[in-house]
Amino acid sequence: MSTAAIPDDPQIRERFSELKPALTAQAAVIEADRCLNCFDAPCTAACPTHIDVPGFIKRIASGNLRGSAVRILDANILGASCARVCPVDVLCEGACVMVRQNRKPIQIALLQRHAMDAFWEAGERLPVKSAGAKKLRVACIGGGPASLACAAELCRQGAQATVIERRELPGGLNTYGVAEYKLRAADSVREVEMIRGLGVEFRCGVDVESAAALDALEAEFDIIFLGLGLGAMQRLNIPGEDSEGVMNALELIAAYKTGHLRELHGTVVVVGAGNTAIDAANAAKRLGAETVYMLYRRSEAEMSAFEFEYEHAKQEGVQFMWHRVPMSIKLDPDAHGRLLLYSVQVKQANGQFEAVPHSELAVTCDLVVPAVGQSPLTELLGKLRGVEVKDGRILADRLTGQTGNKRYFAGGDCVNGGREVVDAVAGGKRAAMAMLKAAEVADA
Ligand code: SF4
Repeated sequence: MSTAAIPDDPQIRERFSELKPALTAQAAVIEADRCLNCFDAPCTAACPTHIDVPGFIKRIASGNLRGSAVRILDANILGASCARVCPVDVLCEGACVMVRQNRKPIQIALLQRHAMDAFWEAGERLPVKSAGAKKLRVACIGGGPASLACAAELCRQGAQATVIERRELPGGLNTYGVAEYKLRAADSVREVEMIRGLGVEFRCGVDVESAAALDALEAEFDIIFLGLGLGAMQRLNIPGEDSEGVMNALELIAAYKTGHLRELHGTVVVVGAGNTAIDAANAAKRLGAETVYMLYRRSEAEMSAFEFEYEHAKQEGVQFMWHRVPMSIKLDPDAHGRLLLYSVQVKQANGQFEAVPHSELAVTCDLVVPAVGQSPLTELLGKLRGVEVKDGRILADRLTGQTGNKRYFAGGDCVNGGREVVDAVAGGKRAAMAMLKAAEVADA
């Protein structure tokens, strides 16, 4: 697997330095000692992968960092990236009993990161069970967190798993779509390498787009896991959208993470107000744009981004334009190479957005970044036999991930419509366990 797609660029590293500094060894022990080791551990219940939080924290307190990391990885093979990207305020840390006592919650994410960083620094590896001991062969289509978790669990239990990814590197949004100050692409690739070390085979640069390609996979493998994620970002559907100087949020993030975009200047307008939109707006600021606007058709209270993401964007200097929709993009005749983004103020009436008369505004800018959500992967989904799809999502059993076609399982964003990395990990692992159980029953 080539990691050439991820250059180590000192300028990007400096501009996207990590948001939260790591805990020192001493601070980690002090923080771990604050944990009450709750019997019913609401933090564990709040984690979709049910990491044994008090268990891994106790091991940090006693200096057993390897044991702590293994405890994390037993539940969540992407425990290192989840420590960086999970919205812990609304998951484990939000559920910590300390919150109910009006005390600061235990810093679970930073402790998890501390254990995982120590694991990497010591060059530790997970023990490999007898790979191939079970006859089950599974193809996981898509190289994102759901497929990685599914494949890792299968190999850890002695089955065979192959991840098929259309891009150069696996990892999905962890590698290409998460802001670098949260999770570095190189760290995502390192996690993938650990999974490869468990015996998972990777086939990168392979598109599964035709019925013939699916036929070939069905002939080679017993089961197919669909960890397809979501499709491309949705279009704004306004005139001028295909102009040079328009780049959607995921393209922008992937471009700077892979060294294809090192600098921006002038004014950038991001359309949308979700978490990815904020990642793109913050990235534009850090890449050098003097002014960054976020334009959103609803109000501040209705934005879909987490509150801490919104606060972060304000700290970065991003400016917000509420109740506004883009109407068209044109070349600015007075400023060579620059764009004019025309927008209009809207108000909601009977569930519809109506333009406010005389509210048109033209912003001269250098880059327009649509960030209005990802569309479902309809092309491939339309080809899947016996796999039901509703509103662009694969219908799969909530507990097992099995679809209407018994040889197809699914998990992650293509099933849940787009949630957190940790939800995808949980879905992929659940599916793997269900496949193993089904194979055992068939063999009995
Ligand atoms: Fe520790 Fe908080 Fe979890 Fe209790 S809820 S075990 S105090 S992290």
